[in-house]
Amino acid sequence: MNSRRNFLKTAAIGAAALTADGLPAMAAGPKKGKVNKPIVVSTWDFGVAANKAAWQVLSKGGRALDAVEAGVHVPESDPDNHTVGYSGFPDRDGRVTLDACIMDELGNCGSVAALEHIVHPISVARKVMEKTPHVMLVGEGALQFALENGFRKENLLTPESEKAWKEWLKKAEYKPVINIENQSFEGKGTSAFNPLRLPGNAWNHDTIGMVALDEAGNLSGACTTSGMAFKMRGRVGDSPIIGAGLYVDNEVGAATATGVGEEVIRVVGSFLVVELMRQGYSPEAACKEAVMRIVKKKPAKAKEIQIGFLALNKKGEHGAFCLQQGFTYAVADKSTQDTIIKGKHYF
Ligand code: ASP
Repeated sequence: MNSRRNFLKTAAIGAAALTADGLPAMAAGPKKGKVNKPIVVSTWDFGVAANKAAWQVLSKGGRALDAVEAGVHVPESDPDNHTVGYSGFPDRDGRVTLDACIMDELGNCGSVAALEHIVHPISVARKVMEKTPHVMLVGEGALQFALENGFRKENLLTPESEKAWKEWLKKAEYKPVINIENQSFEGKGTSAFNPLRLPGNAWNHDTIGMVALDEAGNLSGACTTSGMAFKMRGRVGDSPIIGAGLYVDNEVGAATATGVGEEVIRVVGSFLVVELMRQGYSPEAACKEAVMRIVKKKPAKAKEIQIGFLALNKKGEHGAFCLQQGFTYAVADKSTQDTIIKGKHYF
């Protein structure tokens, strides 16, 4: 992992398309006129493992919706991932509260926010989509619904996450740091407490957003997170908000977001990216335009935070753009199942 990371850092920004072993891989999309399907893309390096699970479904001709649900289950149950699902860092009161949403090719969508005690919030979101007349359930109501539908109540706060929270409590400073995980990993350090600097926890990132195009040519997406570490109780970010953290339009494409959710919500980021693709923007250009919207609205703020958008269109072309250096995404298709691409960045 360490050497892969270093290899990525030396590659040309944005143009880099490498397998996890550092080998050159496909460019960001199919040849002209061809549809590259099936394909799945997801946020951050940890998207590689998630994509592999999604690929199991897609490579057998399965539905994109089933693929993205299976894919994001991987980080949701990973005890070493402190930003998604089980072992996610808690809110400032010590409670692990999860946000997730899912959307299919028919425009159906489901979402849960501030859900506690359930390892796979994405599957609860899918049940909301399929079994209720609603799109979104939150807090106690979401938990009640999950339990009624056979999900098991579990403790999601691991000793490692609890330790990080107690350490944070000493200063109780809520201050997201740009690419905090990179800084700790590379030993540069930061003046703020770094909750991700934990023994055995070499690499952690943020939300997993995953979008896929299946063999039948249909798109779906999923987005799941424990949100900002040590957030205010009740805080909900962009990730479970359809249009902000995730959007799918089967005529055009799909997009997802990661980073400081408040700013993504302000521009309805993922919907914006999809609408731009509808107007003819490539996935990367659409993501860039959405990032520029954030920069334009809050230039001072934009300098201090990280946001990344990731998009996939109906042809299987993909692209990303982010505010700060450090955002990556993972790709799996017929030619590769472990490619990591470094997103171009504004600053
Ligand atoms: N977007 C997530 C949120 O604001 C966090 C992240 O992706 O870093 O909750």
